[in-house]
Parts: sequence; structure tokens; C-alpha cells
Amino acid sequence: MENNYIKLLDRVWDNLPEELQNAPRFEMPRAHTFVEGNQTIIKNFNEIARRLERNPEEILKYLSKELAAPSLLQGNRAVIQRVLRAKIIDEKIGKYTKEYILCHECGRPDTKITELKGQKIIKCGACGAWWPFRRIK
Ligand SMILES: [Zn+2]
Repeated sequence: MENNYIKLLDRVWDNLPEELQNAPRFEMPRAHTFVEGNQTIIKNFNEIARRLERNPEEILKYLSKELAAPSLLQGNRAVIQRVLRAKIIDEKIGKYTKEYILCHECGRPDTKITELKGQKIIKCGACGAWWPFRRIK
């Protein structure tokens, strides 16, 4: 009886790694925004950057370009000089994540910006794949 229980536990542990391989889907951070005059403020911008493990300035530069609006960082917040719905911002952050965070080969978020022969690349720590880092103008 006790033996069976231990066997069962063993089986659970044996099965865990496989489960974990399939389970973790990257959870996209959601923007918490509000509109003030003709500006949109992303309240949790620093938190988003932390979750994505990227420089907030870099992400904001991307959003600014995509949304065709000037922006600035203000403490933990980002201020975009345009009236926008949170959904649009989430979509753009999603687009950023696909290009700059999630591995283009295996889809995992364990990527890092690094260099290869003087070129900036994004490299995946999970599968080793890499692709060129497209500079945000
Ligand atoms: Zn990968």
C-alpha cells in the first residue's frame, strides 16, 4: 500500500518534465492604460519591460514608431502623445514580443540580445537559434 503510493509519486515525478515542456506558454503582459487629454499613459510600463526582460527605452522606441506618436518615459509609466485604446497597445507589444522576445525557432521567451561578429543578434538560450536584431529607428 505504502509502496504503491511511493511508486505513484515516482510516476508523477517522471511525468513532470514532459508536462512542463508543454505547459509554459509565454503570458503576454497587458498594458494598463488611461487617457489624459490627448495622451495615453501606460501605468505599468516598467513592469511590462521587466517581464519582457528588455530595456524600457527600447520597447517604447518601438511603440512610438509603430503608433506614429512621440512618447516619453516618466518613472514607471510611459506617456504616448496620442489617444489610444489599451487593445492597440497590447497588439503592438505582442508584435514586439514576437519579433524581439520569442525565439523564432522554438517560440520560447528565453532570448537575449548579444553580438556575433560585431552584429547585434537575438539568441535563444533554450535551443541556440539566433536571428539578426532589427534596429528600431
Ligand atoms: Zn529557441
